[in-house]
Amino acid sequence: MGLAESRLPVGPATEAMPDAVKKWSDVLEYLRLRVGREGFETWLAPTKGVSIAGGALEVEVPNPFFADWISHHYAAELRAGVAAVTGQDLDVSFRADNAGTGVVSRREPGQRAAPKVDGYRLQAKYTFDSFVVGESNRLACAASRSVAEKPGRTYNPLFIYGGVGLGKTHLVQAIGNHALSLRQGMKAYYTAAETLFIELIQAIEKNTRLEFKNRYRDLDLLLLDDVHYLTGKERLQEEVFYIFNSLHDSGSQIVFTSDRPPQDIPTLEQRLSSRMGQGLVVDIQPPEFETRIAILKQKAALDQAELPDDVAYFIATRVRSSVRQLEGCLTRLLAFSSLDGRPITVQMAELALKDLLRDAEPPDQNKIITACASLYGMTVADMTGPRRTKQLALARQVAMYLMRFHLKLSYKEIGGYFGDRDHTTVMHAIEKVEDLRTKDPSFATKLDKLAKGTTRGEAR
Ligand code: ADP
Ligand code: MG
Repeated sequence: MGLAESRLPVGPATEAMPDAVKKWSDVLEYLRLRVGREGFETWLAPTKGVSIAGGALEVEVPNPFFADWISHHYAAELRAGVAAVTGQDLDVSFRADNAGTGVVSRREPGQRAAPKVDGYRLQAKYTFDSFVVGESNRLACAASRSVAEKPGRTYNPLFIYGGVGLGKTHLVQAIGNHALSLRQGMKAYYTAAETLFIELIQAIEKNTRLEFKNRYRDLDLLLLDDVHYLTGKERLQEEVFYIFNSLHDSGSQIVFTSDRPPQDIPTLEQRLSSRMGQGLVVDIQPPEFETRIAILKQKAALDQAELPDDVAYFIATRVRSSVRQLEGCLTRLLAFSSLDGRPITVQMAELALKDLLRDAEPPDQNKIITACASLYGMTVADMTGPRRTKQLALARQVAMYLMRFHLKLSYKEIGGYFGDRDHTTVMHAIEKVEDLRTKDPSFATKLDKLAKGTTRGEAR
C-alpha cells in the first residue's frame, strides 16, 4: 500500500478527513495553553490530524521519536484535550512518515509508563526519585519528604516558595504521590489556587457552594499550589481561610506553594498570611551549577538519550535561573538530534539553542572572558579552546580568578566555561594569580581595573 493510499480513511466508521484535521487542530489549541511553549513548538506544532477511525484519532508526526516523546510526556494532557474537544474517549495513534519510506508507527497512548492523572490530580512523573536534590532545594525537599511520611505531624502547614520553574509543583505533587503510596485510601487533593478560584466561581453560579465546601472538608492532605494567585481575590481568600481552619483543626496536613513568602503576597489578609506562615516556611533557590548538570543528566537518561558532558556543561553554564528552561533546552536539542539523525555535540547545541540562549547569556562571565582575551591579545575561542601557551594560560588564570572572587562561582562551574577544565586546574590557577597579585603591585592594579570593568555593580 502506497503512502498516499494508507492515509485515506477506511471503513464505514470513518469520518471525513477534514474533520480529523480540524479536531486535531482544536486539540492542539487546547494543548498550547497547557504545555510549555518550548515543548509545544518543538513537539506538537509539527503534527497533523489524519483520520478518525476505529475509536482512534490518527495523527501524523515527523518521525517515530516524536510519537514516543509525545506519548511519554503529554499523555495526560493529550487525553484530556481529546476528551474536551471531541466529547469522546478516543485513543490517539501516531504514524510517522519516515522520509517517504512508508513506515507507519502506531502506538496507543498509555502503552508506555505514561503519566497518569487520577482523581487526586497527581501526575505520576512527579516523584521524589525524579527530583534532583542540591543545596538550593535540600531543605524544601527534606521538609516535603517528612510531611509526606508523617502528614499533619511535623510541619503544618508547610509553605514552599521560590521563583518560576524551580520545582515547586514537582515537590508538592511528589508529596501527594509519596503519601498515597504509603497509605492507600488516604484522601489527598492537589489543586492550583487558580483552579480553586474557577471552582469557586462555578459553585457560586450554579449554587453548589455546599458541594464545593464538602469537597475540601474531610481531606487528609491538601496541596494548594501557587497561592500568590490569591492576590486581590478577597472572596477566594475568605474561602481558603475557612478551608484551612477546618482542615488544620482536624489535624489534616496542608502544603502551600507560592512565588514569594506569605507576608510578601500583596493584599493577602493578615489573618491568612499569619496562618500560612505558622508552620514551616522554606524556599527553593535557583539550582547551583552541579545541580543543573545533574538535572540535565537525569532528564536525558529518562529519555534514554546520550548527553555528552561538554554539552551538559555548555547548557548549564548558560541557563542558570530556571529548571524549566534547562528542560526546554534539552528538549529542543533532543528534537534537533533526532531530526538530524546525528549525535549531540556542542556545535549542535550552539546552533539549536541560539534563540533560546540569547536572553540567558550570563553577561558578567562573558565580559570577563572577553576582557581577559583582549588584554592578553587572544580571542575568546582561544580562551575556551584546548590550545596551551604561556600567555594563554595566564589569560585563562586571570579570568578564572575574577570569576571566583567577583562572581562567587564554584571551581567546577568556572572549569565549565573553559571547555570543562577540572576543578584542580581552576584552584591552581587561582592560587597562582593570588600569588602574583601579592608579589607584583602593577599586576594587582591591572587586576583591579579588570574587575571594575567587568563585574556587576562596579563602574563599567
Ligand atoms: P514551579 O512549579 O516552581 O514553577 P515546576 O515544579 O513546574 O516549577 O518545575 C518545572 C520543571 O522542572 C518540571 O518539569 C520539573 O519536573 C522540573 N524540575 C524542577 N526542579 C527539579 C529538580 N530539582 N529535579 C528534577 N526536575 C526538576
Ligand atoms: Mg508550579
